[in-house]
Amino acid sequence: MSELKDLVGLSRDELAAEMAAIGEKAFRAKQLWHWIYNRGVTDFPLMTTLAKPLREKLAEHYVVRRPELSRLQTSVDGTRKWLLRFADGNEAETVYIPEDDRGAVCVSSQVGCTLTCKFCHTGTQLLVRNLTASEILGQFMTARDSYSEWPSPDDGGRLISNIVLMGMGEPLFNYDNVAKALKIVMDGEGIAVSKRRITLSTSGVVPMIRRCGEELAVNLAVSLHAVTDEIRDHIMPINKKYPLAELMAALRDYPTNNARRITFEYVMLKGVNDTLADARALVKLVDGIPAKFNLIPFNKWPGVPFECSDMKDIKRFSDFLFEAGYSAPIRQPRGSDILAACGQLKSDSERVRCSRLKERAAAGIEDDAHHAATAS
Ligand code: SAH
Ligand code: SF4
Repeated sequence: MSELKDLVGLSRDELAAEMAAIGEKAFRAKQLWHWIYNRGVTDFPLMTTLAKPLREKLAEHYVVRRPELSRLQTSVDGTRKWLLRFADGNEAETVYIPEDDRGAVCVSSQVGCTLTCKFCHTGTQLLVRNLTASEILGQFMTARDSYSEWPSPDDGGRLISNIVLMGMGEPLFNYDNVAKALKIVMDGEGIAVSKRRITLSTSGVVPMIRRCGEELAVNLAVSLHAVTDEIRDHIMPINKKYPLAELMAALRDYPTNNARRITFEYVMLKGVNDTLADARALVKLVDGIPAKFNLIPFNKWPGVPFECSDMKDIKRFSDFLFEAGYSAPIRQPRGSDILAACGQLKSDSERVRCSRLKERAAAGIEDDAHHAATAS
């Protein structure tokens, strides 16, 4: 493994300090920033505005790292999923969801998740660690590589226009690295995705919601999924620490307006949270918060003890919220044939080992069999 220092994920100041450390002027950092984040170049010899001796010096000390591609799958609906391997061998999944004139990359913030929401596949993964800023950025940049979106196209003309932190992990449990990565993503001289096009999804880490609002002010999505503490305690253990009243109080202080509402994600679980009475209580709960809803049909995975609500009940729930004046679309599951849909992400070593063996057996032929066999 390389001993060279990775430049991806350093702030502008840190990059300038690196240049000083190798005896270069600070403005070199600005040029490097452009090559790394606007042009997407990873090879120093290709950074042609830098003099050759400098390019050679950079190559002696540094690397512009990307995660290694462990597996790439494309769904029949165009959704693409990367299983990426980081320098220590850990892996995480990244998903690209194309829409008509744009698309979102769904980025992971942790390998696994320390929370154990009962309906979520990621929560069953034992091994957990935070991803570094470089690893978070590396996911987005790999997606950009894959669609050749370098140099950064103007906003409006991008296949990859939005970022959602809705992959594996709880982003507000890895706030520092997530914030560092997002500040780099938002930098106008680099990747330049505006905060309006970034959505961070949290299970409700109350103390960090305030900080996220003050420092990043990205769109916030909250995994609510229940309207009483009793049910939420049961399906989302974090509710015992930060119950609904505290969560709602923090959300009332989050920077929003009518154009920038908080998205409440609500996974539809049959017989658990899907009655009209639940919908009524939901409207009451969010009263006074600029809100919209995202109703997620529950995606099954092997061994999970829940069923998805009947479509007629989901529709009734959605209609009620709509009548009450809220946008409440039913999310179309995307990429479920490759286990890329919400809550299906998981990369535990067992599954990875299994798929590697199969890949080897298939002598380099891409292996979808394991996923196809387990997809709902
Ligand atoms: N940890 C953060 C980010 C993950 S986002 C969070 O929980 O918000 C992934 C979204 O998918 C969350 O809203 C999550 O609650 C939801 N989800 C998890 N498991 C699911 C499943 N099996 N079916 C549908 N949605 C699920
Ligand atoms: Fe973690 Fe979010 Fe899954 Fe809960 S829903 S286990 S917080 S990834």
